[in-house]
Amino acid sequence: MKHLLSLALALSAALALPSFAQTVALTPNSNGGSGTLPNGFDQIDFSMHNGNWARTLILPSAPRDGARVNIATDAALTSHLDASGVDIGINRIDLPTHANYSLSYSAADGFWTVLSGGTMTHSVPSNGTAVIADNPNKITYMRVSDAVFASKVSLPKAAAEGSIVVVKSTATQAVTVDPANRIYASSATLRSGDTFGYLYRADIGGWISIRSTVRHVAASAIVANQGTLPLSGSPRNLVELTDTDRIDQIVLPKTAGNRDRVTIRSQATANTVIAPANTGLYGTTTVRNGDEYQFMYVPARQRWELISSPSAFHQAGDLPSTGQLPDMVTPHMVVNAADGNTRAELLLPVARKTGDRVTIKTQATTAIKVRSGQTALAPLAAGEQVSYVADANKAWQRQTTTIDMLLLYSAKAATQLGADTMRARLVEGMGITNDTLENSLAKPRFRTVSTQQLTTPDSWKTQTDALNGAKDLAQVKTWRTQSKADGIYYEGNEEGCGQGFLGGNADFMMSVGMIACGTDVMSHELGHNMNVNHNTNFESGDRLVMNPVGGAPFFATPFVFLPELGIPLTVKMDGLNEVKVIDDRAPTVAAFR
Ligand SMILES: [Zn+2]
Repeated sequence: MKHLLSLALALSAALALPSFAQTVALTPNSNGGSGTLPNGFDQIDFSMHNGNWARTLILPSAPRDGARVNIATDAALTSHLDASGVDIGINRIDLPTHANYSLSYSAADGFWTVLSGGTMTHSVPSNGTAVIADNPNKITYMRVSDAVFASKVSLPKAAAEGSIVVVKSTATQAVTVDPANRIYASSATLRSGDTFGYLYRADIGGWISIRSTVRHVAASAIVANQGTLPLSGSPRNLVELTDTDRIDQIVLPKTAGNRDRVTIRSQATANTVIAPANTGLYGTTTVRNGDEYQFMYVPARQRWELISSPSAFHQAGDLPSTGQLPDMVTPHMVVNAADGNTRAELLLPVARKTGDRVTIKTQATTAIKVRSGQTALAPLAAGEQVSYVADANKAWQRQTTTIDMLLLYSAKAATQLGADTMRARLVEGMGITNDTLENSLAKPRFRTVSTQQLTTPDSWKTQTDALNGAKDLAQVKTWRTQSKADGIYYEGNEEGCGQGFLGGNADFMMSVGMIACGTDVMSHELGHNMNVNHNTNFESGDRLVMNPVGGAPFFATPFVFLPELGIPLTVKMDGLNEVKVIDDRAPTVAAFR
């Protein structure tokens, strides 16, 4: 037996031999021109020089425990390292000329950690305290252990935008991160082996929790806590339901750390229900096999906000001939209809809960009648995208206001790009606009009722000429009357990027975009038409669609949050709610024609 064992060891050593190359020195040129570092080495020394450079470095995808990567560059151009697998919680590390980094991989953590390089500091507690001084280096690690222990780590008051602090603990006793100087006091109790990351945002003057050790909460622990999910001390909590560890219903706790997250997913055969207590009324929050829900606790609203949830998708043509939609099994149902895939009538789901939402999108040329039980609702016309929400009495209410649009493109722009491209640009712009409204949970949706090629006067030189001129052209007025369009959007090749009237009466429901710019201009200009002015002063510091140069596809609203950081999408100074402005104006605009 002993003999066989040593033979097996010898064999495995022999088989492993090709990967015993251990250390390798590479440059982009000796790595096939790539910055993607290969697997199979214990150490890679990767260097870059002028003429031997890669824009993006990617760490080995299947590293061994303890694998080491040393990066050095003297190239004039800045590269960046994809840091999505690094414990610092940001997605990239810039590598300017003379940057040096050493990283190692821990299989137990599942992360790379930065050993040295750049402007970084490795700290440990001193005399039982772990206070990080103001204006720290770009990356600061604070490592707490039994040998060098502090029960509390304090983050600095002043720091440069984008600074990172990574707190790691291997101590037997719990370690907490002081809520002082943190924007949101998320749970911050580290157990042995935990890594919690914090990012400094100068625009809001404080630290925000980023990548942190995810705490797995067993269903049995929820059962032991009388059905309420127990708080774990980590800002990130995960419940994975299986056939051997599940519970019928989960109640989220009454309070939690600010911006704490709970993710619930299931691989179990039987369903689990997330109770509505301590959440907004989000409808049928049933966790089926394969479903995933994420909630975030917001103390200002004293509840868990639903951040992501599954949707159920149906094709109208697959429904029974009565058009009866199935019962709600998720908070949101999406139904698609088109010619050859439609029903004369759709009956909204019978089983539903307050907050449930059904969205019907139709391209079918014949109208679709909509009914809730015996109650007839307004029928859907071609191109409409309408949502229905179950109200406090679980009655289905139409939520969407449809605004009809006449879309124009100039003959000159069509000569330049082709009429097909111009039409495709308008379709894309309309899609982005409606997605932006959906992302922001706004009520109106735009619908194209006519698309026309317009021969424009040679006197139009700028976007302002087009904006002021188009609305008064007899041809445009005729098209608008014929198509009963509430508003007009024009795309041409005049000088500029885009412009729209701010609010105003029916004559001024008009905006323009230019082919020199992207198709997302339409969402910004239609925002102006809906009476939203430019906003730069967002609480998040992130650019949204109504920034003068555009931005992320969201209108500002305090009830929608940046997914990663949990910052509400509101304007900092006055709390302006762009979505409310848009919602309030929508019925007026929809009644223009
Ligand atoms: Zn603008």
